[in-house]
Amino acid sequence: MAGYDVDLFVIGAGSGGVRAARVAAAHGAKVMIAEEFRIGGTCVIRGCVPKKLMVYASRFKDHFADAAGFGWTLAPPSFDWPKLVAAKEKEISRLSAIYRSNLDKSGVTVVDTRATIEDAHSVRLVADGRRVSARTILISTGAAPVLEPDIPGREYAITSNEIFDLPALPKRMLIVGGGYIAVEFAAIFARLGTDVFLAVRGENVLRGFDEDLRNGVRDGLVDAGVKLNFGLQPTRIEKMAAGYHVSLTKGASFNAEQVMIATGRRPNTMGLGLENSGVETDSFGAVKVDAFSKTNIESIYAVGDVTDRVALTPVAIHEGHAFADTVFGGKPEAVVHSNIPTAVFSTPELGSVGLTETEARAAFDCVDIYMANFRPLKAALSGRAEKVLMKIVVDGATDRVLGVHILGEDASEMTQLLGIAVKMGAKKADFDATMALHPTSAEELVTLRMRTARFEREIPGPEGPDAGPLEG
Ligand code: NDP
Repeated sequence: MAGYDVDLFVIGAGSGGVRAARVAAAHGAKVMIAEEFRIGGTCVIRGCVPKKLMVYASRFKDHFADAAGFGWTLAPPSFDWPKLVAAKEKEISRLSAIYRSNLDKSGVTVVDTRATIEDAHSVRLVADGRRVSARTILISTGAAPVLEPDIPGREYAITSNEIFDLPALPKRMLIVGGGYIAVEFAAIFARLGTDVFLAVRGENVLRGFDEDLRNGVRDGLVDAGVKLNFGLQPTRIEKMAAGYHVSLTKGASFNAEQVMIATGRRPNTMGLGLENSGVETDSFGAVKVDAFSKTNIESIYAVGDVTDRVALTPVAIHEGHAFADTVFGGKPEAVVHSNIPTAVFSTPELGSVGLTETEARAAFDCVDIYMANFRPLKAALSGRAEKVLMKIVVDGATDRVLGVHILGEDASEMTQLLGIAVKMGAKKADFDATMALHPTSAEELVTLRMRTARFEREIPGPEGPDAGPLEG
């Protein structure tokens, strides 16, 4: 420690960096953290938090419509976008201030500047040119949206960085992509009153999620009025007197007030000075790290989206905490990136933890599926054509629950709790032995006794492996 200005210099005050800084300080380290934008990072400023606030705003459309079935008569509701943006701004400013004051209270020095790496033990503060030496450097600079595909006029498109602060609610919007961000914003804006056209290059939304749930999300988007188009890519964006004209493959075109590209995110490593210290990155620009988040350079670590392991806020927080415990707390922790609960906040929302049916069938010899598809109680009076889909994926040989997937109201809340059971290695018999809580949707998870399908892997013969659904 002697000889260095600080024990730890953190570059980037997002979820991972802030957690690492605070925990390291609590372990007695002298810590400095640099942030070039606003404290809180993507999640707080232009990601999870404002997105969820907008999800809530959008769902009032459904609540107002459902209310009549429960005896309410409402005046026709109207929606004020600038009011929502202002309320959202107030909340994220409050959260950002809390992040800053928590850093202050922890004794961490915050510097409001971009910082770049000079060598394995020093950092340059861009604002005033100061050089700070550090025993350990943590890179937690996150990721940023890409503007892909690389088509003429793509500079006219916005990304999730700009969507939260549009001056007005667009009347017509084209969204490109079929992942988390495209799906969530299509569901939000369609409910707020925008005519949404979604262009997905694949054959369905949300590649990688359970097939049954993907279909449910797709149908939910169509029900909300989203014009869903598969196998379609934009080829050119032209600026018009008002809005943009977008040409697409298959001869399609669309006039839109806004075009949003949501085709993935790329680690923020450009211009960071990684080459000055020899930190290795992959072809995507992500910092390569080991299970303890250490780079190939002994004194430099990286956590969160910049490492492109699993780009989710709680993962970055966990990695930041484990890094600080490992390096400053004498409690080494290798982060395990499996059984991570995740949710897509479409409406209906999707929650998922563990293996999908496809993944389980690729990895296990015998896979049992338990599935329920039902109308929730609320829909009986609201009249909404609403369904809940639940799917439990079980290892047929050991009875261990490999994954649980839910589509419907509160799927995210249920999935967070199911994450504990799946992480603990719960068996299907443990689910069955759990008393139901009635009347809830979640009770289906512990009352699902009839197997929907069993898939057994056969030793490939001349005709190859065969498997198929069984009557439960
Ligand atoms: P995703 O990786 O989720 O989805 C990217 C989408 O863009 C896919 O549909 C992909 O298609 C498509 N795509 C990729 N390249 C092109 C291209 N050149 N042309 C056309 N389409 C293309 O990225 P997002 O931007 O939606 O989100 C980034 C990450 O942020 C997520 O992976 C997630 O980790 C995180 N996030 C998490 C949220 C949550 O937890 N609720 C919410 C929002 C973001 P294909 O499938 O064919 O590759």
